Amino acid sequence: MLTLNDTGLLKTRAYIDGQWVGADTGSEFAVFNPANGETLAQVADLGAEETRRAIEAADRAGVEWRKTTAKQRAGLLRRWFDLIMQHQEDLAQIMTAEQGKPLAEARGEVAYGASFVEWFAEEAKRVYGDTIPSPSNDKRLVTIRQPIGVVAAITPWNFPNAMITRKVAPALAAGCTAVVKPGEDTPLSALALAELAKRAGIPAGVFNVVTSNNAPVVGTELSTSPLVRKLSFTGSTRVGKLLMSQCAGTVKKVALELGGNAPFIVFDDADLDAAVAGAMASKYRNAGQTCVCANRFLVQEGVYEEFARRFAAAIAQLKVGDGVEEGVTTGPLINRQAQEKVSSLVQGALDEGATLVCGGAPDARGGNFYQPTLLTGVTQQMTISSEEIFGPVATLIPFRTEEEAIAMANDTPYGLAAYFYARDIGRVWRVSEGLEYGIVGINEGIISNEMAPFGGVKESGIGREGSRYGIDDFVEIKYLCMGGI
Ligand code: ADP
Repeated sequence: MLTLNDTGLLKTRAYIDGQWVGADTGSEFAVFNPANGETLAQVADLGAEETRRAIEAADRAGVEWRKTTAKQRAGLLRRWFDLIMQHQEDLAQIMTAEQGKPLAEARGEVAYGASFVEWFAEEAKRVYGDTIPSPSNDKRLVTIRQPIGVVAAITPWNFPNAMITRKVAPALAAGCTAVVKPGEDTPLSALALAELAKRAGIPAGVFNVVTSNNAPVVGTELSTSPLVRKLSFTGSTRVGKLLMSQCAGTVKKVALELGGNAPFIVFDDADLDAAVAGAMASKYRNAGQTCVCANRFLVQEGVYEEFARRFAAAIAQLKVGDGVEEGVTTGPLINRQAQEKVSSLVQGALDEGATLVCGGAPDARGGNFYQPTLLTGVTQQMTISSEEIFGPVATLIPFRTEEEAIAMANDTPYGLAAYFYARDIGRVWRVSEGLEYGIVGINEGIISNEMAPFGGVKESGIGREGSRYGIDDFVEIKYLCMGGI
């Protein structure tokens, strides 16, 4: 069972208007530990009516919150950041228990999640407007940037902490209030964040968490309510498209961080050891369950065999197990459905002619574990090359020329992250500019941090999170035209 230093962080009710509340019907849903199937908690299972109340609470709280100074909001966010870091270990324990990632990664995610709170505490003070040269002498033109209003955020289970702070911190910094629906597999991390926000003194109604096992009902309320002015979603492209269409009725601003199909290109002139290290970090982190995980390894013919050999040797070092065990690098997949999907993609690739180098099956320890897997001789035409694998499975596809690699990399409706390894400076520029992706890692497998803009193009999404651009989505530009001067 979960043992925490501060048991007050384990919350099982939703957080609305500063209160911990159950469902009107008393209904609850179970949260499981994916490493052993144990039930961790029974969490309040809210519906449309309670969601509406959360939105109304956020709307009411916004009246005063938007009047606070940026410095006041920055101070509260900073306190929230400090509390998150003080409770890093407990938050990591909660995360590993409900999500499965190794503890070291969970601690890393808590620090990463907190970094957005720190960053936007600072950015709160830099929401500048403009003065614009006037077309005539009797007028002055000015812009101010104001909070957009109530923000709804729907977040996934793979980063149960950071996907919330990356949306809520800029929203609150800008003077917006927020209603969050966390992934149903991982509500405990979200509720622990709410408890710390409460302790930090963030006023009632400014940050609300609606837990539910009925995402379509809560999602419909959040995306159709006229009080919600912006919907920020991270999750699958299928649900993102649905929410975008539901938001059309009230013309909400939408920010979407959707699926990816990240290419990882290794050119003949790459530093192969660095490429293998980057490949391991990009592919096997979180057991392959991130939207920026390399999904296809495109490897130039001259280094194909050698890269495959070194990559396989590195994969052999991975240790599968419960994330709380010492030295574990690869936790379980989130649930049985995820494991079945990965199994069927691998089986499909083998049926279509791929070669199995290692892994290729659920892990012997049972449960939702899947063996770290390497397939070679994969082609762009195989189903596994067009689907987001979301598991610890790497596929190697050979290519001949730079042009061919860029064309293969771009041959997908997605455009979130891409990676490539090369040393030739001309090639570095040509490929960087040629890739139709929002994020490009060049000789680097880890690209996310709070200072850089995260987001995709094409069907991978709309908007950028983090960085100095991350607050833009939460403010409206108002133009003031002053005449009679
Ligand atoms: P994933 O494959 O990462 O689980 P989903 O898009 O299914 O991606 O889930 C991401 C988030 O979207 C979760 O919080 C989930 O509950 C929510 N979600 C799923 N279906 C819907 C829906 N129809 N409307 C609103 N939210 C949804």
